[in-house]
Amino acid sequence: MSTVNLVEKLYKEHNLSDSELKEILLTTDSEVDKTLQKYAQKVRDKVFGKNVYIRGLIEVSNYCKNDCYYCGIRRSNKNICRYRLTKEQILDCCKKGYELGFRTFVLQGGEDFHYSDDDICSIVSEIKSNFGDCAVTLSIGERSYESYKKYYDAGADRFLLREETSNPLHYGKLHPQEMSLENRIQCLYNLKEIGYQVGCGIMIGSPYQTVDDIILDLRFFQKFMPHMIGIGPFVPHKDTDFRDKPIGDLKLTLRTLGIIRLMINDVLLPSTTALSTIDPKGRILGILYGGNVVMPNLSPQFAKENYTLYDGKLSTGKESGEMVKELEKSLKNFGYSIEISRGDTPRK
Ligand code: SAM
Repeated sequence: MSTVNLVEKLYKEHNLSDSELKEILLTTDSEVDKTLQKYAQKVRDKVFGKNVYIRGLIEVSNYCKNDCYYCGIRRSNKNICRYRLTKEQILDCCKKGYELGFRTFVLQGGEDFHYSDDDICSIVSEIKSNFGDCAVTLSIGERSYESYKKYYDAGADRFLLREETSNPLHYGKLHPQEMSLENRIQCLYNLKEIGYQVGCGIMIGSPYQTVDDIILDLRFFQKFMPHMIGIGPFVPHKDTDFRDKPIGDLKLTLRTLGIIRLMINDVLLPSTTALSTIDPKGRILGILYGGNVVMPNLSPQFAKENYTLYDGKLSTGKESGEMVKELEKSLKNFGYSIEISRGDTPRK
C-alpha cells in the first residue's frame, strides 16, 4: 500500500501498525503531507466546525522544585529572575481576558509549593465565582490525589500534565532520578478518575527521542484517551545541558498532530506556542494539520519575559486585545474564526 493510501486507511480505521505509522512520520513525499492535512481538516471540521477555541494562558509562577534537563525554569537555573503572581494579579488577567471573549483560563506554572492547596482552591473558586461561565484549567504539575480532588471540588475543570514521553528509559534521560514516569502517569489516571478533562502530551524532538518513542506515545494516547493532547517541538534553552541540542522538526511535529487527529477524532488539539516559535506560520500550520485550540498569553509582560521555558519563546509587548485581533485576522484568511465559549470536550 502506498503511504498516501496509509493515510486514507488511518482516516477510515483510526489505527495503523507501528511500521505503517513510521512510514507516515518519516515520509519525504509531499503528497502524503497534503493528504494528511486534507483528512485532518475534514475530521476536525466535522467534529468542531471551522471554529478555533481560545484559552487564555496565565503563567502564574516560574519557581519550580523540579530540575527537568530541557526546561529553562528548572530549579538549578540561576540566571533567571523568579516571580510568582498574586491572586489579585491572576484575577486581573482573567478580567482582561474575559472582556476580550476568553471563557477558559489556563493557570500554568512550575511546581511551586509556595501555593498551598488552600491558596490554589481560593484562586480557582474566586475565578469561578467572578466569571461564572468560564472554565479553569490547571497546569501546575504533580500533586497528590487528595490535592487534585480539592482543586476539582473548588471548581477546576481541566488539568494539563504532559507525560513528556511514554518510554521510561527516555524519561530517565530527560529528568533527574528523583522524578518518575510512573508517578506522572499515575497522576494522569488520578485526574481522570476525579473527573477532570485531562490533557497529556509530549515534545517532538526532545533529546534522545526516537521515532519509535513517538509511536509508543501514540499508543499511550490511544490507551489513555485524553480529552486534550499538547504536542510541541522541543526548543533548546541556553541555560540547560541541552543548549546545543537541535530544535524539534517542524514537519514531524505537524505529522504527529495530523495522525493524532485521525486516531482520536474528538480530541482537543492545541496549535502550540512552541510551534509558532520555531516557524512564523507555525500556529496556522498546526490548525491546518487538525489543531483546533490556540492559547494566547494573558500574563503580565514581566511574567511573559521571565517564563522562559526555551529560547526565543514569543513574548511580544503587544497587549492582549491587539494579539486577539491579529489572531482573528490570520485565522480568517484560512476560513477559521474564534469561538467564544468554554470549548469543553465534545466527548460524553
Ligand atoms: N510544571 C508543569 C508541568 O510539569 O506540567 C507545567 C509547566 S511545564 C514548564 C509545561 C511544559 O513546557 C512541559 O510539559 C514541557 O513539555 C514544556 N517545555 C519545557 N521546556 C521546554 C522546551 N525546552 N521546549 C519545548 N517545550 C518545553
